Amino acid sequence: MCEYEPFTVCTRTEVMESVSQQLSKKRWAHCLRVEEQALKLAKHYDVNEKQVSLAALVHDLAKEWSIEKLQESAKLYRLPERFWNQGSEILHGPIASNWIQEHLHIHDSQIIDAVFEHTIGGHQMSMVSKILFVADATEQGRDYPGVEEARRISFENIDEAVVYLMKHTIAFLLTKDVPIFEDTIQIYNTLIQKKERKINE
Ligand code: GDP
Ligand code: FE
Ligand code: FE
Repeated sequence: MCEYEPFTVCTRTEVMESVSQQLSKKRWAHCLRVEEQALKLAKHYDVNEKQVSLAALVHDLAKEWSIEKLQESAKLYRLPERFWNQGSEILHGPIASNWIQEHLHIHDSQIIDAVFEHTIGGHQMSMVSKILFVADATEQGRDYPGVEEARRISFENIDEAVVYLMKHTIAFLLTKDVPIFEDTIQIYNTLIQKKERKINE
């Protein structure tokens, strides 16, 4: 049965097995909860459920790879040089987005971009990408100050939810004394300028 055609000829069971074998039980459970939350949003916003389900199931598949394997893959997959020395936080999405092309034969640009962008967002996010980004941070297992508010906003205005969560992440990173990736800042600027333009329309 090919329930994910035309996005992949792999079955749901094959997708689930290929991802879950790379992850701890705990992180795989997170992926299933992201799928659940993402499907709620897909139904609400009338977005293709196959694309959203696939993107959610695979998004963190490289999260537990060693840093050596991630950085080596960054070169093999020809990611831009600024990615090469990044840590797992920044690399796991872009690497997963290449891995699913190679191993699951997923070539749909909305799914590929959504997985690539799921941690840092993107300058021109599709609805699939926005839904994955938001579902990742608001799945039912997430518990941080502001998560209820983020969930509420996500069903009212998905763009607002993306900006709310970007702000939340950057504010969190500032408290952690860690470098903020240049793309994170640039994407935040793009999104906040889009928001400003909408307000002034
Ligand atoms: P997860 O994979 O489900 O845990 O969620 P994400 O992929 O969204 O996030 C992974 C981690 O990356 C989170 O802890 C974020 O705080 C962190 N992160 C996001 N943007 C940046 C950044 O620009 N720099 C750094 N150092 N970390 C970031
Ligand atoms: Fe992630
Ligand atoms: Fe995740």
